[in-house]
Amino acid sequence: MPKPILLSVDDDSDVLRAIERDLRSQYGAEYRIIGSDSPEGALDLLKQLKVRNDSVALLLADQRMPHIDGVEFLQQAMGIFPGAKRALLTAYADTNAAISAINQASINYFFLKPWDPPTEHLYPQLDDLLDDWQASFRPTFQGIRLLGTRWSPRSYELRDFLARNHVPYQWIDVELSANDPETKLLVEALGPEAANLPVVLFPDGTKLLEGVPADVAQKVGLRTRAQTSFYDLAIVGGGPAGLAAAVYGASEGLHTVMIEREAPGGQAGMSSRIENYLGFPTGLSGADLARRAVVQAQRFGVEILSQEAVGVRAEGSYRIIKLADGNEISCHALMIATGVQWRRLAAPGIDRLQGAGIYYGGGATEALSCKGEIVYVVGGANSAGQAAMNFARYAERVIILVRGESLSSTMSQYLIDQIKETPNIRLWTHAGVAEAHGETHLEEISVLCSDTNKIERVPASAMFIFIGALPRTDWLADLDERDERGFLLTGPDLIRDGQRTKGWTLDRDPFLLETNVPGIFAVGDVRHGSIKRVASGVGEGSVAVQFIHQYLSKV
Ligand SMILES: Cc1cc2nc3c(=O)[nH]c(=O)nc-3n(C[C@H](O)[C@H](O)[C@H](O)COP(=O)(O)OP(=O)(O)OC[C@H]3O[C@@H](n4cnc5c(N)ncnc54)[C@H](O)[C@@H]3O)c2cc1C
Repeated sequence: MPKPILLSVDDDSDVLRAIERDLRSQYGAEYRIIGSDSPEGALDLLKQLKVRNDSVALLLADQRMPHIDGVEFLQQAMGIFPGAKRALLTAYADTNAAISAINQASINYFFLKPWDPPTEHLYPQLDDLLDDWQASFRPTFQGIRLLGTRWSPRSYELRDFLARNHVPYQWIDVELSANDPETKLLVEALGPEAANLPVVLFPDGTKLLEGVPADVAQKVGLRTRAQTSFYDLAIVGGGPAGLAAAVYGASEGLHTVMIEREAPGGQAGMSSRIENYLGFPTGLSGADLARRAVVQAQRFGVEILSQEAVGVRAEGSYRIIKLADGNEISCHALMIATGVQWRRLAAPGIDRLQGAGIYYGGGATEALSCKGEIVYVVGGANSAGQAAMNFARYAERVIILVRGESLSSTMSQYLIDQIKETPNIRLWTHAGVAEAHGETHLEEISVLCSDTNKIERVPASAMFIFIGALPRTDWLADLDERDERGFLLTGPDLIRDGQRTKGWTLDRDPFLLETNVPGIFAVGDVRHGSIKRVASGVGEGSVAVQFIHQYLSKV
């Protein structure tokens, strides 16, 4: 934790040096001593310290300064650091002014110049003031602070990004805590910059206005640039399949890079509780699984890039990946593990309010802020069931909307049983979302009841949509063969009527998880025919590494 600050202000540089010297020799071990020769400069500095979340224990100002005298400075400084102790340095002639300042301007003490010897005329009184300050001092949060508003999609995006990458941060909702004195002081200290939300404040004093995940990634030390330009194995996608491939590839000696555009963990990282993963009888959260896998991958030397792959091409035996920042990485073997993304719900109002009460997927960061609210979950598969169970811990009521007449054909029985036993979850069957309403955030939804053909308009604070998934393969352009829904074809899918796929030039069949381009493999949910489960993704990611070894032995 940085040391609290003792700030002295005097326009006479000799006096300033003397007071700084005496403060440092007595208090330097516990406090940071800062001096300023102008009250205006000191006020600017205090605003910067406020934005950095530093603590100021003492303000010591000379009374006679041009433009702003000591009393006025201390009064203005009190508006920035109300808890700091305030003291004046005065000449004998100003004693009366100092005494009245103590009464009228909430100044704690005044010292007469010169204060020699300090052991008699300075330290005993300062000890008293600082003891008093220490008694009510609460250390400030020392980490990243994110200022935004709950209903802002951009704030949501950043919160989600930080949470999913396990970066600790403090969230400050400037609307919700507008009356909180500390938030007010911080917003005032930021001045006009506070209008550029979301604002990210870093412990080193730097800030990002209207920050986006890529900028934050760079600041928090997530690697966005590859260390070298060539790898044995490049993996695009850091879900369970990509992470497993990374761990197995690197542990078996392949120089491996994994490129992930959001956060390692993929969809599994959004799961509040995975109950069917082998070896975890009481289940584990997706975030926990992801965190463990990342540590394991890093231990084996996998390089993890926080980047998006936007294109790929084959040049001889090289596979070249284009990244969103314009850089390229080449490799001998490429593993595509880009999983799936949620299908969009087409109804008026949905796109406009996405991120402002309407979310695709788990929205793990949102669960806590749904406290006491009415939450809708759209969809009848396991992911919707898990989300409903998670939100039911915080929300007043969770309503699951499904088009069918029950959950039995789409959800696992254990989840159906849990939902039945949870009193604040209600299942609304034969129901589809017809429209979402709200100006700045979701307030109501219109539900079309297919059994009665009527539309009901109901209040809703948040809606989470889980209505199936589409593969993330658009970035591959025409390179790899897909099925009619866009899932990648691999191995036996590429042999039709005993014939290898068109354009295949090697005298062997494609390996089990290899696409129609030799050396490009596909694993996990993105692959045609895959079982959409964590364990199968992990299995495919690990198995594929064996084929990569075989492929590399002939490159
Ligand atoms: C809420 C929820 C709960 C679930 N619960 C369970 C459960 O209990 N048990 C179970 O077995 N399964 C569960 N599943 C399913 C399971 O999570 C998935 O089957 C599994 O995550 C698929 O892994 P994957 O690695 O193939 O893809 P994904 O997990 O989809 O990961 C793909 C990754 O690739 C990244 N990516 C995509 N495109 C790019 C690009 N161009 N550049 C860089 N990166 C990119 C994505 O950001 C993502 O992180 C659940 C899914 C959800 C959503």
